[in-house]
Amino acid sequence: MAIHIAYCGLNCGGCPAFHAALRLTEAERQVVAEKWNVDFGGSHTVADIDCVGCTHEGRHAPYCESGCEIRKCAVGRAVTTCAECAAYGCESLAGFLAVVPDARANLEARRPA
Ligand code: SF4
Ligand code: SF4
Repeated sequence: MAIHIAYCGLNCGGCPAFHAALRLTEAERQVVAEKWNVDFGGSHTVADIDCVGCTHEGRHAPYCESGCEIRKCAVGRAVTTCAECAAYGCESLAGFLAVVPDARANLEARRPA
């Protein structure tokens, strides 16, 4: 599995949308779109299931492009990930990391010494 750490610490390499247009058939991307509609709501289509990863410029899946407050904040602060942010541990990030221990571990490993 590719490793591409998002601003929040998630590994985009574990996301079905990560470079999906290169990896999956349209039918496989359709299955993901339907699952996301059930799991997260919205009306994802095949075209939505393709993303270059959170910290790269280019196409992103809809939530990560415009819904994620952590990503918006990190882009605005021009940090590499939240681990490098002077406000690391802010309320939004802490609430997320409390329920996603893998993301916490990924960010802790990137904290400056
Ligand atoms: S940024 Fe893209 S690859 Fe990363 S979790 Fe979000 S949708 Fe998936
Ligand atoms: S303020 Fe919080 S959410 Fe924003 S970049 Fe810093 S740690 Fe991440």
